[in-house]
Amino acid sequence: MIPPQFGYFAPSTVDEAVELLERYDGEAKVLAGGMSLIPILKLRLAEPVALVDISRLQDLSYIREEDGWLRIGATTIVNDLHDSDLVREKYPIFHDATSVIADPLVDNMGTVGGNVAHGDPANDLPACMLVLGAQLVAQGPKGSRTIPVREFFVDTFETALEDSEILTEVQVPAPRPRQGNAYMKIEKRAGDFSIAAVAANLVLNRNGTVEDAGIALTSVGPTSLYAEAASNHLAGASPDEATIGRAAELAEEIAEPVSDLRGPAEYKRAMVGVLTRRTLGKALARVGGG
Ligand SMILES: Cc1cc2nc3c(=O)[nH]c(=O)nc-3n(C[C@H](O)[C@H](O)[C@H](O)COP(=O)(O)OP(=O)(O)OC[C@H]3O[C@@H](n4cnc5c(N)ncnc54)[C@H](O)[C@@H]3O)c2cc1C
Repeated sequence: MIPPQFGYFAPSTVDEAVELLERYDGEAKVLAGGMSLIPILKLRLAEPVALVDISRLQDLSYIREEDGWLRIGATTIVNDLHDSDLVREKYPIFHDATSVIADPLVDNMGTVGGNVAHGDPANDLPACMLVLGAQLVAQGPKGSRTIPVREFFVDTFETALEDSEILTEVQVPAPRPRQGNAYMKIEKRAGDFSIAAVAANLVLNRNGTVEDAGIALTSVGPTSLYAEAASNHLAGASPDEATIGRAAELAEEIAEPVSDLRGPAEYKRAMVGVLTRRTLGKALARVGGG
């Protein structure tokens, strides 16, 4: 299918990109890897007057640790996140997730910023960001602001970003001692969006009880869902089978799956429980580098 006509801009700075978005006053869209946006244009689900292509802004492509944060530039491609030794060693949840996102072709184009900014509840990186307590940096006409990720996902394909704001960086807190995390997904076929997926992060106290926990769900609600009650249930407890089992039940309770080609709603809800147990188990095994 052929997309509608649009103007095309390839700004060379973020400021220039923001100016263009402001000039078009909600009628322009940011183009990053185009892996989600181009199909939408071809299906004519959106008809922006102009596209502002930020994919060539090399200044926004980086992965580095600084001041207690992992900083990921918005135009970093998914494949670079997957191939990063730093990420594999210290942030294994991203290595898990990027191992199951799409295929090499898509991952060589799709960006980390696009995966988050798209607001698709089936995208895999948002749940990882939710459990790690990431924050997102947005630059707009009035300057730059930081948005906690748990306030970012408003509704399906709707985020806290304003029309003339660009997501420039994802900031993830550096790992604490005795922290482990993991991401697991069930898909119909390799490279597909998930039937359901779960992200989990655990930080243990010296005595083995849980200091802090996060659980988040993909593909079972209007947005990626942070499972607050399930996460809180773990905090302060011993991460034994009974506690993990109850957390899995609480995670199932907040899932809002719908029946579709990927399976019936009840199957998806049950998979949230199964994946929560398995992902917490994997996160626990990784505490202390296990
Ligand atoms: C066949 C296929 C399979 C896929 N499977 C998966 C999968 O299993 N898991 C998964 O997570 N994803 C999957 N994806 C989605 C893919 O990872 C997307 O490309 C990615 O989610 C969007 O990144 P992008 O850079 O291509 O963004 P684009 O398509 O360019 O943009 C997507 C949206 O985000 C906005 N946007 C992008 N970057 C910014 C920014 N920096 N600031 C503000 N707004 C921005 C755009 O305006 C647009 O609305 C799949 C895609 C395809 C085509």
